[in-house]
Amino acid sequence: MISVDEHRATVTELLGTRPAVELPLADCAGLVLAEDVRAKVSLPPFDNSAMDGYAVRSVDVAGATDDSPVTLPVSEDIPAGRTDVPPLLPGTVDRIMTGAPMPTGADSVVIVERTDGGTGEVRIFADAAPGAHIRRTGEDVAAGTVALTAGTVLGPAQLGLASAVGMDRLAVHAPPRVLVVSTGTELVLPPEPLRHGQIYESNSVMLVAALKALGARVESVRSVADDVEQFRAAIEPRLADADLVVTSGGVSAGAYEVVKDALAGAGVEFSKVAMQPGGPQGCGRWNGVPVVTLPGNPVSVLVSFEAFLRPALLASLGHTGVDRQHVRANLTESLESPKGKRQFRRGYYTHSEGQVTGVVGPRGGPGSHLLASFTQANCLIVLPEDVTEVAEGEEVDVLLL
Ligand code: AMP
Ligand code: MG
Repeated sequence: MISVDEHRATVTELLGTRPAVELPLADCAGLVLAEDVRAKVSLPPFDNSAMDGYAVRSVDVAGATDDSPVTLPVSEDIPAGRTDVPPLLPGTVDRIMTGAPMPTGADSVVIVERTDGGTGEVRIFADAAPGAHIRRTGEDVAAGTVALTAGTVLGPAQLGLASAVGMDRLAVHAPPRVLVVSTGTELVLPPEPLRHGQIYESNSVMLVAALKALGARVESVRSVADDVEQFRAAIEPRLADADLVVTSGGVSAGAYEVVKDALAGAGVEFSKVAMQPGGPQGCGRWNGVPVVTLPGNPVSVLVSFEAFLRPALLASLGHTGVDRQHVRANLTESLESPKGKRQFRRGYYTHSEGQVTGVVGPRGGPGSHLLASFTQANCLIVLPEDVTEVAEGEEVDVLLL
């Protein structure tokens, strides 16, 4: 048996680091920058008004109050987007909108609320400090400086900034094309009717969702019979278009273990990992393409995803934080765990205000076929290899999902 950590390291090494690729911004959400982004322009690119109002020379409105307003002619109307703004004529003001370029000669903006809003001439009821309501060139980002560093995860703010400094494409770690394959002669796709002995396929649905959430581009083959020739014929032609193949089922100790039978000796190593659920695992290369083979039980699939694929894939995509958040929590009931294996139990974690540690209770038994209880879980309770019993109230390690 190999340890969970060993297998995780093997899968992480197998997936390696994805090469950089340039993608349009719209395809970069959730991905990781592979190169620094230097601002092509300053942000803001020009001095502009922060408010709707009047661009003025502050000396022209000095002393203006409600009781003794200053009246000045309006020379120009400057909406946002105007590109031919002339210098401010002495002794006049320009009407200006938020985001519009400041005319040279103006050093301040009086907000429209402190005027009568006039267009030919305007009564101004307040003076204006020099620099008031002006957004300065480069105060957010200076042209030529690094706006985003390599390794940044591209969320909405990062993508918005990239566009604001002039980028339409970004170098990111290329999302892998993943082929998900569910094996099992018993598998039927909804809404086909089930015959006795058949079940509806669920593993590929979970894996596709989980992989897509990490940024992978995913295709699936949802049901391959437990027949080596059929398995090879279904998958081999698709290997050229995949950066990673993830299979489920057909890797344990029974007969008709199609994945094992097809791939052992073809570059994939099968091992038993000291964990529950999810013991039977495999990984390697098939015609050069990385393959990770997961067991068939649905809970084992999700736990294996959490233990191996998620961290390995995140690392390959350039993420540095690849682990789920760990917390300690007090168990609401006692649990048992097999000696020598790391047990992952579905759990529900709560943390009330004022509590030092949270509280966690199991959802469902240890059985790896109990998928419904996973839908009620928000965490995995992790019981280490050397633990066989944990009493009610004791602290355990919890992985928040
Ligand atoms: P196996 O590892 O192929 O022996 O599968 C273990 C268990 O998981 C069996 O009860 C299978 O019917 C079930 N199973 C395998 N693949 C799937 C799947 N794609 N969807 C739902 N259950 C599955
Ligand atoms: Mg099977």
